[in-house]
Amino acid sequence: MRNHRLIYHTLREYFGDLHWWPAETNDEILVGSILTQNTSWKNVEKAIAGLKRDNMISLQAISAAEEDDVSKRIRSSGFYRQKASRIVRIAKDIVDRYSSIDSMQVLSTGELINFFSNLSGIGQETLDSILLYIFNRPVMVIDAYTRRIISRVNYPDRTGDYEIRDAALHDLEYSVDDLKNYHACMVELGKTFCRKTPDCQECPLKNECNYAMDLSSP
Ligand code: SF4
Repeated sequence: MRNHRLIYHTLREYFGDLHWWPAETNDEILVGSILTQNTSWKNVEKAIAGLKRDNMISLQAISAAEEDDVSKRIRSSGFYRQKASRIVRIAKDIVDRYSSIDSMQVLSTGELINFFSNLSGIGQETLDSILLYIFNRPVMVIDAYTRRIISRVNYPDRTGDYEIRDAALHDLEYSVDDLKNYHACMVELGKTFCRKTPDCQECPLKNECNYAMDLSSP
C-alpha cells in the first residue's frame, strides 16, 4: 500500500541523505528561506555568496546594515529590494527581541508560529521551513514541487496541502530527520524527473505513481 513512508524510502534509496538545509548556520537558513521565495536555488546561492563575501550573513550584521547594503549583494535572487527590506526588518526584530535566533530555541512551537507569522514576508512555506530546519519541529514543508509530485503519484487521494501535511506527519511518525530529508528529496525529484514534463521512464517513483502507471497502461 502506498504511503509517505514507502515513497520516502524509495526516494532515500535513490538520492540518499541530502543533508538539507544546505547552510552553515541558522542565520543562513533564515536568510536563505526568504531569498528562495519565487526564485531558483542557484540564484539564492549567488546571493548568499555575496553576503558571505562581505561578512553580512549573520543577523547581527544584517540588522545593523542599510537596506541598500543588503540589496546590492542579493541582486541575483530577484525582487531584491523587497527581499532586502524583509531580511533587514526580520533581522532587527529578532536581534531586538531575542538577541539571536539561537536563543529562540526555547520557545514553544506555538510561540514561534505566532512570532514569525506576524512578520511581513513570511508565508506558510517559509514558516514551515524555518520551523523544521532551524527549530527542529516536526513539520512537512509543502512547496510547488511537493504538490506536483504528490498530485501525480496520487497519494493520498485528496491532495490538498492539509491532507499532504497530515498524512506525511502520520506516515513518517513525526520524525524531524525524515521530514527534513523527505522535503529535500521532493525538491530533487521535482528538479530532475518530475518536472513540468515528467521523465517517468527513469523516475525512481514510477512503480508507486498513478500518473506513470496510467502512461504505461494499454
Ligand atoms: S513517475 Fe513520473 S509523474 Fe510520477 S513522480 Fe516520477 S516523474 Fe513524476
